[in-house]
Amino acid sequence: MPLSPKNFQGDPSLEAILTRELGRQRDKLEMIASENFVSEYILRIAASVFTNKYAEGYPNCRYYGGCEYADELELLAQSRARKLFNAEHANVQSHCGSSANMAAYFALVAPGDPILGMDMAHGGHLTHGASVSFAGRIFKPHFYGVRADTEIIDYDEVLRLAEEIKPKLIVAGASSYPRVIDFAKFRLAADRVGAALVVDMAHFAGLVATGLYPSPVPYADIVTSTTHKTLRGPRGGLILSKKSFAKAVDDQVFPGIQGGPLMHIIAAKCAALGEALEPDFIDYQRQVLKNCARLATRMADAGYRLVSGGTDTHLILVDLRPKNMTGRQAEEALDKAGITANKNSIPFDKERYTVTSGLRLGSAALTTRGLAESDFDEVADFIVSALQNLDNDAFLKKIRERVKTFTQKFPLYPNLDF
Ligand SMILES: *Cc1c(COP(=O)(O)O)cnc(C)c1O
Repeated sequence: MPLSPKNFQGDPSLEAILTRELGRQRDKLEMIASENFVSEYILRIAASVFTNKYAEGYPNCRYYGGCEYADELELLAQSRARKLFNAEHANVQSHCGSSANMAAYFALVAPGDPILGMDMAHGGHLTHGASVSFAGRIFKPHFYGVRADTEIIDYDEVLRLAEEIKPKLIVAGASSYPRVIDFAKFRLAADRVGAALVVDMAHFAGLVATGLYPSPVPYADIVTSTTHKTLRGPRGGLILSKKSFAKAVDDQVFPGIQGGPLMHIIAAKCAALGEALEPDFIDYQRQVLKNCARLATRMADAGYRLVSGGTDTHLILVDLRPKNMTGRQAEEALDKAGITANKNSIPFDKERYTVTSGLRLGSAALTTRGLAESDFDEVADFIVSALQNLDNDAFLKKIRERVKTFTQKFPLYPNLDF
């Protein structure tokens, strides 16, 4: 059977879905803090012929033939990751952030061991010990959180819990924590009780890469990340470690957890790491921070309470309780207005995970589209007027039209059909 059948006309029902998704990305405002838009070049690389290649193992030690170029590719990606983050070792094979965490934990601790991670309602990720995650099922999870008064991580509690629980592993890092994390304090707590320290920088890796957020690399035994959030690469995972953990990490990724690596995605990660090493990546990340700071100011000016009072990062967390709104209501109203964001639990939230009292908003994706601070003023206006008219579908529809017109100023993938 030939590769492209003679009269092949494409797959219209499939392409229609892809076209609709491109349309959605183009004419809505993407404010999910964990999302971004890759460059057209990275998209192209992610679709390369490396999708055809099996390369189980690591460079120069594969279980398949024909891996000479896969080896070159993976070595290049590894060296870029080490350089970008000043790390001793890099593993670029993890399919996602969650499997990167799984490999990191498996490299350091055994089933049944106590671990100490951040409470999900306070900003932690599922894989930091939630009962529905492998992390909560395989290990014995304990949680720290933020202080009720400042909504900053309670470092005294981290130390107190560490001494009480004697965890084998402490996990720092978060998905909805708007502030800088003090990694030195986590290292101190880990050293006090002989625990290993994993820092999960999935959200803020792009900021770390450009020196706009403190690097966890000097403090953590293993650093895990996604490549698709602020780092602006393809959907995937990344693990950095001290040399002494290199073999344990590699063995846990393959054969511990995964089979063949996604070489086409490793190629796209390599391209993304290359982009991140370019000088203008720092301009991008600086703008991400400026835009988020402006959004925070505008939301606060409009009377919205921000968890921790503001942000140091690419995201803010809005407390909707004073406005008598739930996160679910806010998410739905914003969606009708053409703004994509997510409801999010806030510290000490009394609502369920499916409802929540918070709204998480991020600036990374819209900054990639070219929005600057003054554009974020307009975005904040859209958000505030949508939230003030939660139940008015006709009004939300009018905002939707204005949003659509607004997005046309910031073309997304103008040369692509899907
Ligand atoms: C997004 C995220 C992950 C998981 O990434 P996936 O690629 O979705 O598995 C892990 N940890 C943190 C802190 C995250 O924010």
